[in-house]
Amino acid sequence: MPQTAPRHRIRIGATTVTYLPDGAVHADPEVIFPATAARDWTSHRQLLDTNGWLTATVGSFLVRTDSSAALVDLGLGRVNFAVPGVATYQGGRLLASLHAEGLSATDIDLVLFTHLHRDHVGWTSDGMGGLTFPNAWHLVDRAEWDHWQSHTDATGPDLETVLTPLSPIVEFFDARPPEPGLQTIPTPGHTPGHTSVLITDPASETRLLILGDAMHTTAQLTEPHWHFRSDADPALATTHRRVYPVIGVSGVVDQ
Ligand SMILES: [Zn+2]
Repeated sequence: MPQTAPRHRIRIGATTVTYLPDGAVHADPEVIFPATAARDWTSHRQLLDTNGWLTATVGSFLVRTDSSAALVDLGLGRVNFAVPGVATYQGGRLLASLHAEGLSATDIDLVLFTHLHRDHVGWTSDGMGGLTFPNAWHLVDRAEWDHWQSHTDATGPDLETVLTPLSPIVEFFDARPPEPGLQTIPTPGHTPGHTSVLITDPASETRLLILGDAMHTTAQLTEPHWHFRSDADPALATTHRRVYPVIGVSGVVDQ
């Protein structure tokens, strides 16, 4: 039986990267990967639960150095709902996961978004008009931000709880690059401004790549042509899965 990923810490030189669970998604694999049929999943059966659905974890990556604490993506937020025949979504644990690392929301000084799909921005605001992480710079790709100003989509960011509170303070990777050791890598395709985050230890050249939604399941390591239901440009998304080396863990799916 597949399980969702637990809180887990990896050290990259002087930087620690900790996966912080927020919740889980269970989805019909043939619906979310529309080019696949049941027979395609027989060699990936270990990823599926007893109902034949894919189990995925949703959360955030905490990137800590001596001087900073950054979050990459903000999970689902406090939600619990189903799209019948497609998937179930349950979130709400991110702040508890952060507290378990000895930090509170005010300790976070940087938030990076790989993209602005709903399951990556869930904790942007506190539900009372403010930001959940009020002391943090909030950074995203400029093309990603621009795209969602004029496109409304059920998978996209909510106007009231995401776009409006971010509007006065959001900054862009090209104008304010993240701190040394954190490198953003454009990986468009899943969304127009999708970005992956590369963390490098300058001493050892050890690297870890946070993929975002460039991949949704480890099955795509061997099946990179399996595009995701909401990929904006499936061919381009596939190109990045083939071209970019997978040198770390995505934390997206645990088997
Ligand atoms: Zn996405």
